[in-house]
Amino acid sequence: MDHADRRRRLAERLDALEADAFLVTSLPNVRYLTGFTGSNGQLVLSATDHASVFMTDGRYAEQVRHEVPDLPHEIYSGEVAPVFHRVRQRLGLNRVAFEAAAVSYRTYTTLADGVELVPTTEEAERLRWAKSAEEVGRLEAAQEIADQAFDLLVAKMVEGMTEQDVALELDVAMRQSGAEGHAFDTIVAFGDNAAEPHHAPTARPLAKGDVVKVDFGCVVDGYHSDMTRTIALGPVDPWVHEIHALVRAAQQAGIDAVRAGAVAGDVDEAARAVIVEAGHGEHYGHSLGHGVGLEIHEGPMLRATSEAVVPEHAVVTIEPGVYIPGQGGVRIEDMVEVTADGCRPLPRTTRDLLVL
Ligand code: ZN
Ligand code: ZN
Repeated sequence: MDHADRRRRLAERLDALEADAFLVTSLPNVRYLTGFTGSNGQLVLSATDHASVFMTDGRYAEQVRHEVPDLPHEIYSGEVAPVFHRVRQRLGLNRVAFEAAAVSYRTYTTLADGVELVPTTEEAERLRWAKSAEEVGRLEAAQEIADQAFDLLVAKMVEGMTEQDVALELDVAMRQSGAEGHAFDTIVAFGDNAAEPHHAPTARPLAKGDVVKVDFGCVVDGYHSDMTRTIALGPVDPWVHEIHALVRAAQQAGIDAVRAGAVAGDVDEAARAVIVEAGHGEHYGHSLGHGVGLEIHEGPMLRATSEAVVPEHAVVTIEPGVYIPGQGGVRIEDMVEVTADGCRPLPRTTRDLLVL
């Protein structure tokens, strides 16, 4: 699906919103709708492309000529409000929809002067939930690089390496394999540090008996990957095998529950029930998963009370965990592509416990 098709789909919402145009300021949405990859750009989207305008500053004047060749441009300096008001007066816009979560209060007051602004939530985001084949291809490429980095890490892991060393190995391996960046700051946690779901790597050295939890991913053509594996340097205590098997079973229950048309909260519940029944409900304090795409965390969110319906070709993570204070923790996370009757995991890395 090309950018013009995506813009048409969002413009179809204008009637229901009773708006003349849509001001898109969230950068991932701007990129999704136009192809623009810079750090400052806004789109005034009208019912037709020739009445739409792409706005950016002088740093990107040249870039937009090739990235956004199919829309009129306005290049400005300073704040966006003056050019927005020029554009909306020229186009005769009276009611303009905007993204409530992507405009600061300060910017809002300058944009709202003389025009009716209509707050909206997740309008463009919802279009992004179901991925095109091309988008899935980019997510697969980002995941393949993460799988390769994990293989390299496992081959190199020895006693005495620090959490920071492990993070650096993963980061360098992903960049050398062609990633344009990291999806987020790589999480590495040894031993009882793994009781923290999001632990920032330290100089702690790896010791025999430690679990090693790594959560990492990269970016390819703007699309992210996200995978968690918990492995161990043997020999390990029996609890490691026990908790890993429990989390593995919970993850499988989530994988079995997700399909096109499933309610997000039900998928969360399917996995959570396995952990609660084993008596570890209090050790699992986060949601089951999230969509992945142009953003590392996007919809649909797989969280307890969500009534969102998961569409076919959504790519979501399934990532339950059990974290025991003072002892350690296990999380297993895979991105899956949602299909009509189930899902297809993207990683090829084994989900079984690897004891080195
Ligand atoms: Zn992750
Ligand atoms: Zn995740």
